[in-house]
Amino acid sequence: MSDSPWRDRIVAPDADGLSRAAGLLKSGSVVAFPTETVYGLGADAFSESAVGEIYRLKNRPTWNPLIVHVADVAAARSLAAAWPDRAEELAARFWPGPLTLVVRRAPRLPGIGAANDTVAVRVPAHPVALDLLRASGLPLAAPSANRSEGISPTTAEHVVRSLPDVPMVLDGGPCSWGIESTVLDLTGDVPRLLRPGALGLRALREVAGPIALPVAETADGAARSSPGMSRRHYAPRARVILCEDVREVERGGLAEPVGVLAYEGGDGAEVLSSDPREYAADLYAALHRLDDAGFATILVQEPPRTEDWLAVRDRLSRSAA
Ligand code: AMP
Ligand code: MG
Repeated sequence: MSDSPWRDRIVAPDADGLSRAAGLLKSGSVVAFPTETVYGLGADAFSESAVGEIYRLKNRPTWNPLIVHVADVAAARSLAAAWPDRAEELAARFWPGPLTLVVRRAPRLPGIGAANDTVAVRVPAHPVALDLLRASGLPLAAPSANRSEGISPTTAEHVVRSLPDVPMVLDGGPCSWGIESTVLDLTGDVPRLLRPGALGLRALREVAGPIALPVAETADGAARSSPGMSRRHYAPRARVILCEDVREVERGGLAEPVGVLAYEGGDGAEVLSSDPREYAADLYAALHRLDDAGFATILVQEPPRTEDWLAVRDRLSRSAA
């Protein structure tokens, strides 16, 4: 990396780096920063032009709205037209952390993407993200810092490789969760899961009570069309094929070379943990490595069809779409 042309964009999150990053954000530019889930590409959520720059850099379709990151619960409340008791309870239990809440949007915040009357908010747990939120004093709209549909970044280097024009990336090391936040819609009577993610449903139900799941997810653990989410997403350059037993796949028609992503003792170019949290933490980095190794096809051993694997199965099914 030392002689790479990107090196000067990757900045240590010390006092100088944070103040430069905050300066860029306050002047309407974008900055990539670490969160505990994945790296985000942030912009002032109050500036329509700054938010527009995120969509341009990522080539993200404008119908897909962004999560707004804030420093604390009070800041989240100030962006909402209504803050239900359930939001207060969930925030008290899970923030800072990988849970995004969708609530009615305060009129002073511009609509983001196609989300006309709602806003998605969360308080991230990564110290650098919190430092940046405080240093800038802004709510930061931030999707994952990668080209639209690509693999989410879990290191600063992933960011500059996917977005070579990004002005700055604060380097906070590898993300601890490595998979996006769980998105919960609180605008109806019953909380509704919009996207399975890092925070599991079991923990969520303890506070939120029953949660409505998209029908396809209850059936086979593979999400279909939750609002605002494209079917194909999280995709490497290689073609991804999910299979129960990779040894039984007929390889004749597959583009070569063929790589295998397995878990628990399976044979493969990449073997991940059989623990869903550890698997999720390594998944995107493994897909990046398989792409870099030049595989044209990646056979993925399907994880178990249990709720613990919901978020991983969602991401794998989208990367294979
Ligand atoms: P990303 O920023 O790529 O991690 O994706 C953000 C996720 O949050 C997508 O699934 C969006 O559809 C969802 N999201 C963001 N804002 C809203 C909103 N106002 N209403 C519903 N979903 C939202
Ligand atoms: Mg994303």
